[in-house]
Amino acid sequence: MKNQAKEIVDISKYLYQKNLVSGKSGNISSRFKGEDGDIIAITPTLASLDSLEEKDVILVDSDGNCLTKGIPSSEVHLHLSIYKKRDDVNGIVHTHSPYVTGFAFTDKKIKRHDRFGKMSSPYYRELEYEAPGTKKLADKASEAIEDDFVLVLKDHGLISVADSLKEAAEISEFVEGLAKTQFISHMLHLSEKF
Ligand SMILES: [Zn+2]
Repeated sequence: MKNQAKEIVDISKYLYQKNLVSGKSGNISSRFKGEDGDIIAITPTLASLDSLEEKDVILVDSDGNCLTKGIPSSEVHLHLSIYKKRDDVNGIVHTHSPYVTGFAFTDKKIKRHDRFGKMSSPYYRELEYEAPGTKKLADKASEAIEDDFVLVLKDHGLISVADSLKEAAEISEFVEGLAKTQFISHMLHLSEKF
């Protein structure tokens, strides 16, 4: 538990420092093997990821029963639904990073980068809006992400998943960078017209 809590704290601060989360938004989790089955370490509800401490990290079992004090993130069901469907995923990062979320609030899609991730379509997968924190969002998002590593939540934010929490955080950072570059590129194209 000590290591998992430390990793949650370290990655939380990393995401905050990279401006991928702000205020009390964003939540992350990792899955590890406990004596009686899988355990998920997750950030608490209404916490600033910048000021998180190891004692604040919540542990739940794979059905969402709390194993420690405190209340887990309101998106705990989103995390649990994805872990249930994906044996290959052990880390999940959910952010509302500015450029990705900017795209998510428009009809413009984020293009995938060549040679990175699955190129089954030219754009990252998207899920139509469902209210945050709901079971409906959890069910639909875990379906929609299929075997991919990234899912854009329309009018909301981004989910990144990976074998490890660190890798999921790096994917979030990478996609935010792509969205930023594509935003600049759109702006430059527009300016050419004047
Ligand atoms: Zn959210």
